[in-house]
Amino acid sequence: MLSNSLSTLAPDALKQLQATLDGDLLVPGDEGFEAAHQGWNLSYHHAPALVVKAMSASDVADAVRFAREHHLGIAVQATGHGPGRAADGALLINMSGMNHAFVDAESRTAWVEGGAKWINVLEKSTPLGLAPLLGSTPYVGVTGYTLGGGMGWLARKYGMAIDAVNWFDVVTPEGDLLRASANEHAELFWALRGGGAGNLGVVVAMEINLYPETDVYGGNLLYPGTMAREVLVKFREWVKGHPENLTAAVTIMHYPPIPEVPEFLRGQSFVQIRGLYAGPAEEGQAYIQEWLDWREPVVNMWRPMPFAEIATVSNDPIDPLPAKPTGAWLRELTDEAIDTIMNFMFPPDGPAPLLFVEIRHTGGAVSRVAKTATAYSSRDAQFLLEAVSITPTPEIHEIVVKYQAEFKAALGSALAAPYLNFTDAQERREATRNAFTPENLRRLQAVKAQYDAENRFDYGFDVKPAK
Ligand SMILES: Cc1cc2nc3c(=O)[nH]c(=O)nc-3n(C[C@H](O)[C@H](O)[C@H](O)COP(=O)(O)OP(=O)(O)OC[C@H]3O[C@@H](n4cnc5c(N)ncnc54)[C@H](O)[C@@H]3O)c2cc1C
Repeated sequence: MLSNSLSTLAPDALKQLQATLDGDLLVPGDEGFEAAHQGWNLSYHHAPALVVKAMSASDVADAVRFAREHHLGIAVQATGHGPGRAADGALLINMSGMNHAFVDAESRTAWVEGGAKWINVLEKSTPLGLAPLLGSTPYVGVTGYTLGGGMGWLARKYGMAIDAVNWFDVVTPEGDLLRASANEHAELFWALRGGGAGNLGVVVAMEINLYPETDVYGGNLLYPGTMAREVLVKFREWVKGHPENLTAAVTIMHYPPIPEVPEFLRGQSFVQIRGLYAGPAEEGQAYIQEWLDWREPVVNMWRPMPFAEIATVSNDPIDPLPAKPTGAWLRELTDEAIDTIMNFMFPPDGPAPLLFVEIRHTGGAVSRVAKTATAYSSRDAQFLLEAVSITPTPEIHEIVVKYQAEFKAALGSALAAPYLNFTDAQERREATRNAFTPENLRRLQAVKAQYDAENRFDYGFDVKPAK
């Protein structure tokens, strides 16, 4: 039974823990306590019993052992972009201080600490002509993103982020530091890749492969929202037979009427073709030319760009905000699926409580890896669907949760497994069991039983230990 309170802890125990730490220990009432556990997504709040701001692997190990001794649950947070269960009454390990990354140009690898963001890797790798498999924004945590799969603009060419991991250094739920790779603790290595966000211990560092990408062709072209249906239909045809160098998406976006949005977009709806061609610009341009020949867009922002500017493809928000994502793999973009997307993005009775819906083309290197090779199981759908809403109040959050659930229910059998990275909180917990093949789920639960039979790490993916 996990304790929900620190009341039983002697202040001496806390003092002792602080004395061993390189980082800070914070309890309710301390200055900086709130900031130490508030994540990027402002819709969610934790009420932890204490927060350890880890600065080293030994801080993490000390924190885990302390939590064990005092019967506390253990939650891990890097950025708070993908919260699971609120860490109420738990010991929360804040990893954001462990944000170093080093690149070895010769082996084309990066050593990345467990709290680093992709920007920390990009800043080191792009001057050396190397690219990591980040997603749409460099401000998401490398580890959280990777543990959930990790689908970015190089996915069709090089695969998911988990496919680029060589090893993880992990502090286990027992408080031991070990390396999980294909040769050591291989089952844990298998499980972490897609099945280990916050539920199998703390990744304190990892080594990932980098890829020789310097100059790419990417961007967006925008058509008016009124053309959304025909653009979706054309997108479905357009992606057929695409080379793996091209990872593209179609996005229907309702730009909010706020000053931060450029005036020509503000308060209007657009349907956008976005993505990245990782190859010569002339080759990429030829694919975009098909759209320009088809209908003139409002604006075409595809351009040759250095890989370092990859974030401009999606222009995701950097500052914290209250949001609710949802997402799942989409088997096919059928006519019925397109009707459903249109109905939910443009409901007859007023504005949709969805900011955007994006459909990314997948396949290529993503689907060449066997489903049993990693715990991560979704490899064969053609598309990945994501929907995001802004949720400024709890009431709006509730409306959005219901609306997104209805949207996914209406898409019915067009949807394949959930994509855990595009879910959060309660939805992420509930979706966990359906995100894996039954065989992979059983194997994952067995690994959980081996490393965390007491389920002390029960705040991320909801994987119950096998009996
Ligand atoms: C704006 C935005 C854009 C995104 N774009 C993409 C995208 O293009 N592709 C994609 O695949 N996903 C994308 N995501 C989803 C993102 O990958 C997930 O939300 C991911 O869980 C975030 O990880 P984090 O570490 O930043 O967040 P956190 O909330 O800090 O962590 C997420 C989960 O990972 C666990 N975790 C974090 N660090 C560690 C660690 N060191 N050891 C063990 N567990 C850890 C946490 O316990 C938690 O369960 C995006 C999300 C946002 C908000």
